[in-house]
Amino acid sequence: VTERHERDSQMRTELALAQGILDSLPSQTVLLDSHGRIAAVNQTWLDTWTASTDEPQPTWVGMDYLAACQGPAETSDAEEIDDIIRGIEAVLNGHAASYALDYECWSGESQRWFHLHVVPQTGGAGAVVTHTDITARKRAETDLSHAATHDSLTGLPNRTGLTQALQASLTRYDGSKPLALIYLDLDGFKPINDKFGHAAGDAALLALRDVLTPCVRDVDVLARLGGEEFAMLLPETNSAGAERVAERLRARLAALRIPYERHEIAVTVSIGVASFPDDALKHNEVFIKACEALYRAKVSGRNKACLAREEKMVTKTSHYTQGQLLGLRRLA
Ligand code: GH3
Ligand code: MG
Ligand code: MG
Repeated sequence: VTERHERDSQMRTELALAQGILDSLPSQTVLLDSHGRIAAVNQTWLDTWTASTDEPQPTWVGMDYLAACQGPAETSDAEEIDDIIRGIEAVLNGHAASYALDYECWSGESQRWFHLHVVPQTGGAGAVVTHTDITARKRAETDLSHAATHDSLTGLPNRTGLTQALQASLTRYDGSKPLALIYLDLDGFKPINDKFGHAAGDAALLALRDVLTPCVRDVDVLARLGGEEFAMLLPETNSAGAERVAERLRARLAALRIPYERHEIAVTVSIGVASFPDDALKHNEVFIKACEALYRAKVSGRNKACLAREEKMVTKTSHYTQGQLLGLRRLA
């Protein structure tokens, strides 16, 4: 009797130790028996339940985990759930050494991300399932990728963002539809900075964005390519259509007066327009073609929109230097 008593006591100590280790884990953790029933859950699991609902904590032990996975249908993606169930079963049956998946989870308005990891329970039959909150990492990744593809002053896509949009548009339209690019550069921006200061220059760039933004359709992409250069990608638009848009933009911007402190800053823009397949044989050629057209708009007096198709000769005697032209070309 004493021996049995001692054995029981030792077992209780070991169980308490095992539960203590489970409870110390920061991830929501569930131990499953070989049939996929819950053998134990940890404190983080219980706390997560309490934090997410007012409903009383279910009796977890003995619950069929795979059935519970199917959960509330409105928040789950059926295909993903099937994949998870197959993954867990594969580990339980010894067909897979592990299973892992990152999944997204909405509670009300807030989006969270979890990393699900399933491994066999080495101390016996069954599996250990952990759900680790990776929301902070996912948000950081999203922020980084947003920063890589957007301009911080205007919040518009940058050159990388525009290039990606072009690729996405080609995928969507399978390359057969026309596509136009409007390339726009503020005239005499340096003097604005010099006369009113850099903050005034920034205000002018934001005013420009605010005029251009309502001029784009949902499918169009307005981007800031750097400095005082903006571009507009117009899917399913031919040369004539893009020319009309460009002329409208030019006129609107010429009429714009940007209030800055006690001043009103007037701006004009020069615009180059190119389209596929009217002016460019390949889609990405629209960049260089629009840029060349923009250069012609600059040398022929600014505050103009030029079409890539108008093969007018340009003289190099203008005050636009070869270096500036090269700068423009490099940007394209
Ligand atoms: P052009 O009519 O030939 O285009 O003349 P420009 O003065 O507009 O062209 P230039 O390329 O010589 O000058 C561009 C200026 O844009 C130079 C730089 O000081 C300014 N700039 C570039 N990025 C920013 C920015 O983020 N904020 C402000 N305020 N100025 C910027
Ligand atoms: Mg300029
Ligand atoms: Mg420029």
